[in-house]
Amino acid sequence: MHATHPTTLEPIGHIESCYPDKFGIPRQPGLAPSAKAQLVLHAPYNDPLAVRGLDAFSHIWVTFLFHKSPPSWTPLVRPPRLGGNAKVGVFATRATHRPNRLGLSLVELVSINTEGGVALTLSGHDLVDGTPVFDIKPYLPWADGVEGARSGFAPAPPVIRPVCFSQTARTQLNALSDGAAVKALIVEVLAQDPRPAYQHGSTGRVHGVRLSDKDVRFRAFVDDTGRIALEVIDIASGGPT
Ligand code: SAM
Repeated sequence: MHATHPTTLEPIGHIESCYPDKFGIPRQPGLAPSAKAQLVLHAPYNDPLAVRGLDAFSHIWVTFLFHKSPPSWTPLVRPPRLGGNAKVGVFATRATHRPNRLGLSLVELVSINTEGGVALTLSGHDLVDGTPVFDIKPYLPWADGVEGARSGFAPAPPVIRPVCFSQTARTQLNALSDGAAVKALIVEVLAQDPRPAYQHGSTGRVHGVRLSDKDVRFRAFVDDTGRIALEVIDIASGGPT
């Protein structure tokens, strides 16, 4: 009988993210490069000595808890990539409902601030605000990247949708001092079509997604090339950040 090692993990820090909700977050890191977050380390892990030399690496692995997922799990799950119909083994997926609820994301390390503790600026993440982080490690392309690796039912990034803006939304963007950055994040997130997989073929219904302090309303339509595209109708400011 093998020994079991029940373990208690203590977060080394938490994420302050541009994603207040799970809805709308891209399914993997790197799909929305404009998505920024702060990883704020907690005492005693917020010792600047602990990150000495880390700024020489451009990317890091973040190990975290899917704290917004229930602790329960099932052996079979329905990946959105397969339309939410086909079932595959939980260990053959990156599903959020899994044993121990551990997540792993490769993100870009933008900068490190060691004044009054340690805060890392990250970009291209897929983490909801408040996510507890258990560990970080530098990314080693020669060790972590495998040329020609097979990736099963997810052989390539998701197909992206064209995104356009109504006149109202364009006017609202022009009024923002950070309008270009807000626009870039909206385009990258909506291009992933955050609607539930079973709605991907439908058009007309208005949906909303929160990005930082913005409430973004959008709808799907068929563009003049016959493709499903997403139109941003309205961008309201002032929600909780
Ligand atoms: N890259 C990670 C991995 O492979 O372990 C996460 C992949 S998972 C499919 C990405 C989704 O996790 C996001 O789209 C978001 O909805 C969800 N998510 C992000 N942070 C979470 C959290 N703290 N708790 C629960 N779900 C979370």
